[in-house]
Amino acid sequence: MATIKGGCMCGAVRYECNVEPAFMANCHCRDCQRATGAAYFPTLVVPRKALKISGEAKYYESGGGSGKLIRRGFCVNCGSRLFALPELIPDLLGIPAGSLDDPSMFKPSMDFFTASAQPWHQMNPELPKFPQNPPRN
Ligand SMILES: [Zn+2]
Ligand SMILES: [Zn+2]
Repeated sequence: MATIKGGCMCGAVRYECNVEPAFMANCHCRDCQRATGAAYFPTLVVPRKALKISGEAKYYESGGGSGKLIRRGFCVNCGSRLFALPELIPDLLGIPAGSLDDPSMFKPSMDFFTASAQPWHQMNPELPKFPQNPPRN
């Protein structure tokens, strides 16, 4: 697959990753709903060590859907949401699909935290559903 590249709306924060994502999925937890203002958080999950970030994101820490802390990064200039660093998976980091230069490369393989999925959002019936955390292999 092509290099994962993207950034915020104003371009102050950019990122690049040359390895395959560990997984791609849609998180429907309440924390992601609040943070994104949307029905769910479409995320590419990549190894933290493999992601090169330029510019500076500001981080806000809160309780994630798992009950563990999650740090969420955003651009202080334009407010775009960037990275999600859950304590639950300390080696991995979530990138929002909409921040990619080519968002069409996002291919989610599952929906998780579907217990808090919103009735006004139609999930793809073909994707596996997990009411809580996604399984870890
Ligand atoms: Zn920005
Ligand atoms: Zn979530």
